Amino acid sequence: MSTTANRSEPTPPRQRTIVVVGSGIAGLSAAVSAAEALEGTEEARVVVVERAEPHEAGGNTRWTSAYLRLDDVYEPGDSFVEDILAFSDGRTPAEYVETLLDRLPETMEWIQGHGVRFRRLPTYFINSSRRRLQPVGGGEALLAALRPAAERLGVRFRYGTTAQRLVQDAHGRLSGLLVSGPDGEETIPADSVIIASGGFEGDAEALSEALGKDTSGLLPIAPGVRFNKGEGIRMALDAGAGRGGQWDNFHAEPVDPRSPDPEALVMVFPYGILVNERGERFIDEGRGTVDETYESTARTIWSQPSGTAYFITDRSFESVTSRERGLLTTAKPEVADSLADLASRLGLPPEKLEETVASYNASVQQGTFDWRRPDGKGTEGLDPPKSNWAVELADPPFLAYPVVCAIVFTFGGLETTAHGEVVDEAGAPMPGLYAAGECTGIYHGKYPGGTSVLRGMIFGRIAGRHAAGAAAGS
Ligand SMILES: Cc1cc2nc3c(=O)[nH]c(=O)nc-3n(C[C@H](O)[C@H](O)[C@H](O)COP(=O)(O)OP(=O)(O)OC[C@H]3O[C@@H](n4cnc5c(N)ncnc54)[C@H](O)[C@@H]3O)c2cc1C
Repeated sequence: MSTTANRSEPTPPRQRTIVVVGSGIAGLSAAVSAAEALEGTEEARVVVVERAEPHEAGGNTRWTSAYLRLDDVYEPGDSFVEDILAFSDGRTPAEYVETLLDRLPETMEWIQGHGVRFRRLPTYFINSSRRRLQPVGGGEALLAALRPAAERLGVRFRYGTTAQRLVQDAHGRLSGLLVSGPDGEETIPADSVIIASGGFEGDAEALSEALGKDTSGLLPIAPGVRFNKGEGIRMALDAGAGRGGQWDNFHAEPVDPRSPDPEALVMVFPYGILVNERGERFIDEGRGTVDETYESTARTIWSQPSGTAYFITDRSFESVTSRERGLLTTAKPEVADSLADLASRLGLPPEKLEETVASYNASVQQGTFDWRRPDGKGTEGLDPPKSNWAVELADPPFLAYPVVCAIVFTFGGLETTAHGEVVDEAGAPMPGLYAAGECTGIYHGKYPGGTSVLRGMIFGRIAGRHAAGAAAGS
């Protein structure tokens, strides 16, 4: 009897696969962290599927300045958690924000270990109160550091490949990811899937449905928006995931529609008035610092006729010596020696604009104008009022910038645990399924600026490490 027939070779354990969907800050942080945790083992491999080609990959991360809501590299500031919770009236899960705080130091150490440097630069919020830190080179520098790191660690990138659906085995357990790519559809076997494919701001239909109104008037803030169509969120919901964040809201910024540039911000609206296409004021332009009010101002502009407003000011604007910092538009203002002439250039009713400015001027109260901080120099008897920075507009030349609302990202997404595991509708973790970054829903009401890239990095890293631990341990 042959001995070889009975003595079977021990079968090597099957190599597990972690698939990451998307290669923005969340996806790359997840892929690199998973690969680092698995380095030197053969237990699992990491595959990134990315819908864009390499030169366009990186979604919103590619276009962001990546301001972080930090006082310094390891210093989040005194009220980091409280502020973020307050912005949502307590609806953002406290555990999520506390995890951000806890994991901040090690994550900042890690990203600096990949060659990213930080600096504290003045922002476009020229009367702001919260400090921001920025990676040198913005979001693109984060991609430029992490993508080669992933490649060195053996992560396989599949560009031009779009995740479509999660695949489950006969027991309902996650077993793969259906993707479409240059060669058609294919299922990639997967033990874990980390969804990091951004929000659904790039899908006009899904956006209109979630926001409950036509969104064709919203400008995409940057070219990266169009890649984020929400398949990652949808495929998890189809598999029974629970929803997080405010589905009928989004992060908005006021921009100049004439500018060909991404993020052509007009963040100087408190130093004049905003009128709609009827020549009427519709908002208290000075109700708080720009940092606190720019998002709701942009959304209110969107609700005006034709979704357009005009920032009107005069020579007094020159006294705002940092005004250029608040103007990221490269388009020049419309300039005229009279309000009637300015109105004609803008296509506004001249008499109405003159009337609006006259009643505004008549309501301006005495006080000392200080553009650097809320100065209490407001109006009396005006509806809507202007609470700060009220100065008569009577000194030509008059200037105007058109302003519309741009969408940056959606607030609605998936709910996760503090380990980045996607939870089902009953709140239980779904085995093998993770999510990080914009596709997870935590924001409600008002976006706490400077938290999006930070959370993508921190939770991407958490999800990657957890998935690697699960792959190695199973
Ligand atoms: C102009 C601008 C300025 C901003 N300023 C700031 C700021 O100062 N501070 C801050 O914190 N945040 C800022 N943000 C927001 C922040 O940049 C994003 O929220 C963050 O980068 C999102 O990271 P992410 O990895 O979750 O998604 P993304 O960076 O958008 O990456 C998603 C990736 O998934 C890919 N993808 C999408 N769908 C699929 C699919 N089905 N299959 C495969 N791949 C898919 C996309 O191609 C993309 O590469 C700004 C954004 C923009 C655009």
